[in-house]
Amino acid sequence: MSTVVNPATEETIAEIESAGVEETDAAVARAKAAFPAWRAVAPADRARLLRRLATLVEEHHEELSRIESRNVGKPIAGARGEVGMVAQVFHFYAGAVDKHHGETIPVAGGVDMTFREPLGVVGMITPWNFPLNIASWKLGPALACGNTVVLKPAELTPLSTLRLGELALEAGFPEGVVNIVAGKGSVVGQRLIEHPDVAKIGFTGSTEVGQQVMRGAAGTIKRVTLELGGKSANVIFADADLERAAAAAPYAVFDNAGQDCCARSRILVERAAYDRFAELLIDATRKLKVGDPEDESSEMGPLISAQHRETVASFVDGAVLFKGEIPEGKGYWYPATLVEARADDRIARDEVFGPVAALIPFDDEADAVRIANASQYGLSGSIWTRDGGRAFRVARAIDTGVLSINSNSSVRPSTPFGGFKQSGFGRELGMHALAGYSEVKNVYYATEA
Ligand code: NAD
Repeated sequence: MSTVVNPATEETIAEIESAGVEETDAAVARAKAAFPAWRAVAPADRARLLRRLATLVEEHHEELSRIESRNVGKPIAGARGEVGMVAQVFHFYAGAVDKHHGETIPVAGGVDMTFREPLGVVGMITPWNFPLNIASWKLGPALACGNTVVLKPAELTPLSTLRLGELALEAGFPEGVVNIVAGKGSVVGQRLIEHPDVAKIGFTGSTEVGQQVMRGAAGTIKRVTLELGGKSANVIFADADLERAAAAAPYAVFDNAGQDCCARSRILVERAAYDRFAELLIDATRKLKVGDPEDESSEMGPLISAQHRETVASFVDGAVLFKGEIPEGKGYWYPATLVEARADDRIARDEVFGPVAALIPFDDEADAVRIANASQYGLSGSIWTRDGGRAFRVARAIDTGVLSINSNSSVRPSTPFGGFKQSGFGRELGMHALAGYSEVKNVYYATEA
């Protein structure tokens, strides 16, 4: 059995069975048995099932949001937004089923065509920070392509994904197509990685475990996509709308209590505007409402666990510019914290995964690009400037998979999301994700008499 805790109250909210190798093998066997019939389902019918799942998520919107909020400690308003996106993602992939085409290629003596074949059984391993969202980013494209799935949610936050598995059955997905197996990474996750009948691992989590996934997958030449850590830069030029950039910056790093792979936790500010921006940022951070996730107006909740809070705290030893308030009593709270740093400080290099942002000054455009790229990661980031040419020059020069200009947004159902460098490879969301859940097959048909 495994105990599931509400990080805002430290109360046990569920006791669930923790699967072992046997249960994992049984789930893989069910998914394998279901695959031939599932891949043969007519595209329109596969789309209908995805659409039905999207509708069920909408119908259970409040229930799923409450589960997510209680299990992860997310403010309820944010959880509602995330569950809204889950439904949009399934709607998107319902529409994508019959738009993932092959090609015909001009060749001599016949006709050459390509097909997008499903891979078979796909193993999915997800993290605790956005459990349902990330599950949908993998399930949507995998199911749209005709794969069957065994998904292992994170030990700390299995509840919303288990409920989604029930909704998938209610939607009418045949038995064995969607299998949710809750258990330890070192047991269930490891078994999925090694299992000869699993064709691919879609992994989201830390870069460290991502390395283990890649190593383990080598044994069976499994396909892998890896969505890993980040240390994204929020680059603020002196000519930007500083008020807007400063008002938005706290949400880009303190949202989900900083437990966000896209967190813009390095705030790079052009020296000419540094003092003014720091002042505005402190004001904006002071306004952040930290408190009970069930309170409709809360903007930041606690961290996921006591252990994680210790890790986050271990990063803060430098010049603290600002430290916010936290509620008293139970819960794994950590205050929103702004520190001043140099580009090579630990806090500016490593992923904190908590509500701590490092302010770093830069001299000019070239310096900004140099500092932004001085990271093993390359997931997300922002550029704030009124100079359109510069915005695009810098966007092209930063080695990262997802950028926004005069905005801090990173994810949309229809646009590709994923990392450069040690933030991983492969893309989720949009039509690009379909490539990660299918193989290209080339068929030549001789037409000469
Ligand atoms: P984690 O790597 O500890 O765990 C992720 C998942 O892997 C969990 O389900 C866990 O049980 C499983 N796991 C752990 N050890 C395993 C093993 N040996 N074999 C197989 N599976 C194993 O990550 P986390 O702490 O849950 O999540 C935080 C990390 O995830 C951060 O680094 C964050 O940046 C990253 N993340 C990345 C993205 C992205 O899209 N790039 C999104 C969210 C989170």
